Amino acid sequence: MKLVVLTGGIASGKSAVCATLAEMGVPIIDADRIAREVVEPGRDAHREIVEAFGEAVLRPDGQVDREKLGKIIFSDPERRALLERITHPRIGVRIAERVAEHAAGGAQAVVLDIPLYLENLERGSGAPLPADAILVVHVDPETQLRRLMARDDLSRPEALARIEAQLPLDEKAGMADYVIDNSGEPGETARQARSVWERVTGGDGDEKALEGQQGGSR
Ligand code: ADP
Repeated sequence: MKLVVLTGGIASGKSAVCATLAEMGVPIIDADRIAREVVEPGRDAHREIVEAFGEAVLRPDGQVDREKLGKIIFSDPERRALLERITHPRIGVRIAERVAEHAAGGAQAVVLDIPLYLENLERGSGAPLPADAILVVHVDPETQLRRLMARDDLSRPEALARIEAQLPLDEKAGMADYVIDNSGEPGETARQARSVWERVTGGDGDEKALEGQQGGSR
């Protein structure tokens, strides 16, 4: 079974591509959801976060306030590393379990939707699992900014700050085995997603290929 990492930038269209793949029946593991589950009240990671960061990072209902925690670690690499030491191993175990379940169920390939995969890889904080292929959803910078402002109701500077906190999308595309360009109409993105998926599951997984280039044996 192939493990395909799907990543991109904020508002680049990962959800849109996931929706197309899900419609095709492709199993998808949502790393963000797992990241929320491992810090739920009652879990070990929840207790360790409170020990390390204090009750101030909890919401009145006892859930971890991810936004508050995000602000604390944003400009503090040591505290970020501390949080990652608490959460990453647990997220990794849960992802590995889900991957194993899909493999046992006979899936040919599974998608791991993981927004910050390449940032984590770059910072050396580890990938939860080695990927057979990396698929990046790319969009041109102006379109990304416009869609992010509209989706999250942000001002231009607010949206830019969020984009600039991530690796540039062009750089991510350079690290990808497959790139889907989501700058156009949703239907065009869906077409590319289907075509990339055909090549992912049809090829031997070793060759690098870029959507839109000469496809070779894929
Ligand atoms: P991500 O999951 O990468 O953060 P989304 O899939 O949520 O990004 O897309 C960001 C925003 O842009 C959403 O509001 C979405 O509806 C919109 N969007 C995504 N793809 C397109 C497209 N091809 N054309 C127009 N709007 C799009």
